[in-house]
This record gives sequence, C-alpha cells and structure tokens, in this order.
Amino acid sequence: MNPTTTAKPKPSQTIVVPDFEQIPFQTDHITCPKCGKVQSAKILHTWPKYKYLHQCVDCGFKITKTDWKSIE
Ligand SMILES: [Zn+2]
Repeated sequence: MNPTTTAKPKPSQTIVVPDFEQIPFQTDHITCPKCGKVQSAKILHTWPKYKYLHQCVDCGFKITKTDWKSIE
C-alpha cells in the first residue's frame, strides 16, 4: 500500500568544532619588531593559512604575520 516506507537515514551530525589543541604547529625564532627581543614563537598550521600570532615576552607587543621576522 505504501511504497515509500524506507527507513530514514540517520540525522546529519556533522560536528565542525575547531579544536585548537589538535592543530599542529612549528616553533620559530623571531625578533620583536618593537624591542628587538629574540624569542621563540609558535606558528599554527591552520587551514588554509598558517596562523602567525605571538605576544612579545618582553614588551607585550602583538606580533602578527606582517611583523613576523624569522631568524635563520
Ligand atoms: Zn618586544
């Protein structure tokens, strides 16, 4: 009688929660553009672009990608 009694597919449970503790990173050595302090900072390997954000341990300056000065 009823031809459309197929079981319903499971409800979509696409959980898109960014878990920052799961993001791989690399440690880089940079120079603070403000005070010149050499320090290590993390580059997060986020998608689609890596995240460059570090606060200077000395003067508190927020170093972003534009100010990022890697040391070889
Ligand atoms: Zn600084």
